[in-house]
Amino acid sequence: MSVSKNGYAKGKCGRCGKTYFNRRPAFPIYCDCWRYCPLCGKEMTPHTPDLTPSVHDAQKSLRVIRVCLNHSPPYYSKDLPVEVKLK
Ligand SMILES: [Zn+2]
Ligand SMILES: [Zn+2]
Repeated sequence: MSVSKNGYAKGKCGRCGKTYFNRRPAFPIYCDCWRYCPLCGKEMTPHTPDLTPSVHDAQKSLRVIRVCLNHSPPYYSKDLPVEVKLK
């Protein structure tokens, strides 16, 4: 990581390619693309696990963080916020 003359570190999201400038490089930047459906681009709904799942389903749904209901079957996302690596 190097900081340019004006004090900004530059980083690119490895998932969506969006470029970020960080004035305070000590603080990590997280890209918000994980919240958006990769299929239709709409913001996904936080996934609430079923209240009465079997143990197996509970383990499975724990990893699902967001869901897009625009699709049939719904698109389940397990993506976590992407930390933008600064250069
Ligand atoms: Zn991104
Ligand atoms: Zn979608």
